[in-house]
Amino acid sequence: MNTSIECRQITFRVLFDRPSDAAYLAAATGAARFVWNHMLARQHELYNLAKTLGIQPPAPSYLNLSKAFTRLRNEAAWLRDYPFSPVRHVLKYQALAWQAFFRDTTGEVGRPRFRSRWRGDSLTLPDKIRIVDGKIWLPKRGCWLTLRRRGGHPWPHGRPVRAVFKRINGKWHCTICVAVAAPERMDDGSVTGIDMNAGQVATDDGWTCIIQAQPDTRRLTAREKRFNRRMQRQKKGSKRREKTRRRYARTKQRIAMRRRNWQHQVSHRLRNGTVVVEDLRPKAMTRSARGTLENPGRNVKAKTGLNRVIRETGWGALRDMLAYKAPRLISVNPANTSRECAACGHVAAASRPSQAKFQCVACGHTDNADLNAARNIRRRGLAQLHGEGRSDLPTLMNRETDRKMAA
Ligand SMILES: [Zn+2]
Repeated sequence: MNTSIECRQITFRVLFDRPSDAAYLAAATGAARFVWNHMLARQHELYNLAKTLGIQPPAPSYLNLSKAFTRLRNEAAWLRDYPFSPVRHVLKYQALAWQAFFRDTTGEVGRPRFRSRWRGDSLTLPDKIRIVDGKIWLPKRGCWLTLRRRGGHPWPHGRPVRAVFKRINGKWHCTICVAVAAPERMDDGSVTGIDMNAGQVATDDGWTCIIQAQPDTRRLTAREKRFNRRMQRQKKGSKRREKTRRRYARTKQRIAMRRRNWQHQVSHRLRNGTVVVEDLRPKAMTRSARGTLENPGRNVKAKTGLNRVIRETGWGALRDMLAYKAPRLISVNPANTSRECAACGHVAAASRPSQAKFQCVACGHTDNADLNAARNIRRRGLAQLHGEGRSDLPTLMNRETDRKMAA
């Protein structure tokens, strides 16, 4: 019997019995934002000072920031109206953000940014969470807030570890992290290869090959862009602009929700067996397009478009879902999965006459390009499963075909 503990996140709408409770939650979130910005300003000063002196800038730890917070709370009396540990908890995030910045060697991670009322505003209850009869206790204020969710609470007996309040488009949400005993996962023995491509995924489980297209969000995306453009034209601080901003934000949220829903559907279908995915890092691919000054990327324009779609597809989120839903997730070497013939194994860039089509130059096998890739991914996963050695070799071949393509 599997007794490991897993964390599940469930998001609820938050309803208030009294409007003053909502105002208090907003004010407490504001206090957390104030603490974040106050400490960040100090850290930025220290950082800049260290830089001008030519010494290693200090990496703030949560402990140090917490000590500074205690001092700040003694000076600023109004902070004492708000719960201690939730407000302090933003500094944990800040310490992590600094660590990520100092650890990063690629130059992609910037210094932590200042919070605004519009961006990244949230309040975390890190401990002592009380949920009774669908209500959550708001400490210091001393009131219960109603949690509402269609379908109710899926794990009412799980232990709540953390709760995060967040206001999205004017409505409060609460995401609760619940520790649950990991359910025994069904494994029907199937092995499915999944090729995640621009705007769609292709799957092959050895019996059926299917392509599942992402929901069509073109109309919503057009709306989002239109609102964004309109907002740029409108006067800052005006009521009209505020109205457009709300509509823009709502449209954006709808796109995100639709995508997430689709990801849940796709991963749900694959929950009963082994899933094989490509070992791709979208971030690295995104970076490669523009290249560097000395070595500008090839075909920048086309790649930029592809990268946009890659980012939008949200592979990371889908992989995470597969990781917790499927009994086993295998990553395989992504080299040449789209250039290799699933029938004879011949690798050639010329076998790909168009984006959608695969036609093997060696054996004449034709297939949808993405389905062909899904078959290759599945086979590599099977090879890895049965210990037939990993197909790491094509790295060299990859460079060869790259050179050919460049010529
Ligand atoms: Zn072939």
